Amino acid sequence: MSDQNPVFIPGPTNIPDRLRLAMQVQTRDHRAPDFVETFAPVLEDTKKVFATKDSTVITFPSSGTGGWEAAVCNTLSPGDTVLVARYGMFSHRWIDLCQRHGLDVQIIECAWGSGAPADKFEAALSADKAHKIKAVLVTHNETATGVKSDVAAVRAAMNASSHPAMLFVDCVSSLGSMDFRMDDWGVDIAVSGSQKGFMLATGMAILGVSPKALAAMETAKLHRTFFDFRDMMKANASGGFPYTPPLQLIYGMRESLKMLFEEGLENVYARHFRLAEAVRRAVDGWGLSLVAQSPELYSDTVSAIYVPEGFDSNTLTDHVFEAYGVSFGVGLGEMNGKAFRIGHLGSLTDTMVLSGLATVEMGMADLNYPVALGSGVTAAQDYLRNSRPAAIKSAAA
Ligand SMILES: *Cc1c(COP(=O)(O)O)cnc(C)c1O
Repeated sequence: MSDQNPVFIPGPTNIPDRLRLAMQVQTRDHRAPDFVETFAPVLEDTKKVFATKDSTVITFPSSGTGGWEAAVCNTLSPGDTVLVARYGMFSHRWIDLCQRHGLDVQIIECAWGSGAPADKFEAALSADKAHKIKAVLVTHNETATGVKSDVAAVRAAMNASSHPAMLFVDCVSSLGSMDFRMDDWGVDIAVSGSQKGFMLATGMAILGVSPKALAAMETAKLHRTFFDFRDMMKANASGGFPYTPPLQLIYGMRESLKMLFEEGLENVYARHFRLAEAVRRAVDGWGLSLVAQSPELYSDTVSAIYVPEGFDSNTLTDHVFEAYGVSFGVGLGEMNGKAFRIGHLGSLTDTMVLSGLATVEMGMADLNYPVALGSGVTAAQDYLRNSRPAAIKSAAA
């Protein structure tokens, strides 16, 4: 099997050589004076990706899940109420984490394939006259279903009900790939990680924390030690770390930010839209359906695709891995066996996406799916060649 085949899972994502090399550094002393010069600019520049001026960027050596835990433990107290909608595996897991911390979780059950229900949030917040709800939790991009939620609409609903709750957003599989506006959307804590849009190895949770969340920290009573914002901020203030930092990831992050800014965040988002659209055209060409219920919910980083009745999506993902050495995302939770996922985020080109579509198409043909060989690839090719950005067009001329 060739390790040059890209992965089409929605994280961890393909690591460009430039970033693999950037992470390849010998041990350095994080207490030496030059660590400040490496680390402080990374924290400052990450704010641009969150689109925030007001918030503080805080990182932990952890996967994204640790970022959820840090958000909750630093700002809430046992018995506090949080309001969450469940519409996929990741919103479900965030609910589970809150429950295990002894929070009172008010859950709005939604169909998998739908997004955050701003209207239901507004009703729940308006009914909460005593302001027991301390935070509203939203998964911006539900990676299990390929659904992007409208965070601005949730903020508008919170404002309409004049409720003082904080807004926490999981943007692990959207930050650095799809438009995210922490300040404009009034997000109090945004949680992300190193291994998706930042195209790095797994191991760094990356959070944006608003002044309001920092104020809540002063009275919050849940226990935290490793994930204590205060220890981290105190050390970060002089450019340091309260324990051993993931140095290689910090070097990687520095280079990843450079890459994102060189391309331009707007261009990065446009590239993700265009590649996602090519995948959606292919799905349509195959005669299959997305799990996402309507176009405004379509994620530009991952597509979850129902297999036809009578087929098992796990057989498809296993077969494609064994026959062609390529990984696609399995169906998670309720979608297990029913849908497979194509991750299309991070370091990705037209050519890479076409190779993935062609490969999974072969897999479906091998398993006698009612899908014509070429039907999806042709639709994607048509779209891609007719939507080339100016830079690619002129290079080809
Ligand atoms: C990947 C992901 C996470 C974090 O998962 P880890 O494996 O802990 O990094 C959280 N939320 C969403 C939506 C994700 O896609």
